[in-house]
Amino acid sequence: MKKHNFYAGPSILPDVVIEETIKALKNFAGTGISLASISHRSKEFDKVVLDAQDLFKELLEIPEGYSVIFLGGGASMQFAMIPYNFLKKKAAYINTGTWASNALKEAKLFGDVQEIKADDFFHLPKNISIDKDADYVHITTNNTIYGTEFKEDFDFGVPLIADMSSDIFSRKVDVSKYDMIYGGAQKNLAPAGVTFVIVKDDILGKVERPIPTMLNYKTHVDKGSMFNTPPVIPIYSAYQTLLWMKENGGVDGMHKRAVEKADLLYNEIDRNPFFVGTVEKESRSIMNICFVMSEQYKDKDKDFLDFATQKGMIGIKGHRSVGGFRASTYNSLPLESVAALVEAMQEFEKMNK
Ligand SMILES: *Cc1c(COP(=O)(O)O)cnc(C)c1O
Repeated sequence: MKKHNFYAGPSILPDVVIEETIKALKNFAGTGISLASISHRSKEFDKVVLDAQDLFKELLEIPEGYSVIFLGGGASMQFAMIPYNFLKKKAAYINTGTWASNALKEAKLFGDVQEIKADDFFHLPKNISIDKDADYVHITTNNTIYGTEFKEDFDFGVPLIADMSSDIFSRKVDVSKYDMIYGGAQKNLAPAGVTFVIVKDDILGKVERPIPTMLNYKTHVDKGSMFNTPPVIPIYSAYQTLLWMKENGGVDGMHKRAVEKADLLYNEIDRNPFFVGTVEKESRSIMNICFVMSEQYKDKDKDFLDFATQKGMIGIKGHRSVGGFRASTYNSLPLESVAALVEAMQEFEKMNK
């Protein structure tokens, strides 16, 4: 049976990316040796890194004066590297969920933090006002666990740093409004293991404290992500995903597909009396769609999960901290998978009425 992969991360990747990665693992770029066994400093791999950086710049229309680097350690490592490199006295953190809270926690090790928060994580904070003496403000544009998403590029009057782990390449962003954008690759880009960082060159080197070499962005910018051995295999897969996105309409194409998929599923959640969305309409994510059984059918949670699993749905159980269901509809998830989930919801309704 066809499987429909709604996992939140690691998550679905285009078939062609998996195939090209397998090919390269057997024989990389005609070298006769495996991608797993070639020097990261070989000219063949060097070209992959340079081409991947160029595709990042092209697809996201990154202006002059920014560097793209590929690091290890996951987005979670960035939570510490950001205050290490940029926090002098005080930073502002928009706390919109688990990941944002984790980022904020690390910043508190380095200085004062202004925390901006709504009453709960099913809503996004409104009328955000940032203290003007903050060295930077940190935002999580898409909240993977709660299914909320900021869909605009803010200007708060202080440098802006964004975790875009789970919505990068799903909407057009005005990169010039950000001083840094970063994310783990395992949501919309590659297998786990690589983290992308887009950083404005002139914000580097401004803090007084000594920074360990590996945790200093400047090290990796100056050495073009080759200071030490980078995560070679995920970088190669990311490069293949970038090529796939380019061939499929770039960021505009990804956005159009994402909106189409999200509309289809949210419309069913709103129509079907068995289900209810957990996020207010204007804050709904187009990447992680969260819903629960409606009050009346609360006891049918497990029945629906079993039914959907039988129909080939994988990874729709909500995060353990939220419960219910979550369908992650990342860029490479085909529309037919969302249509299959909607059909399962409709069949479940008919069977249980
Ligand atoms: C998954 C996720 C992370 C954590 O990424 P790791 O690479 O596992 O550290 C951080 N932020 C957001 C928004 C995420 O979705």
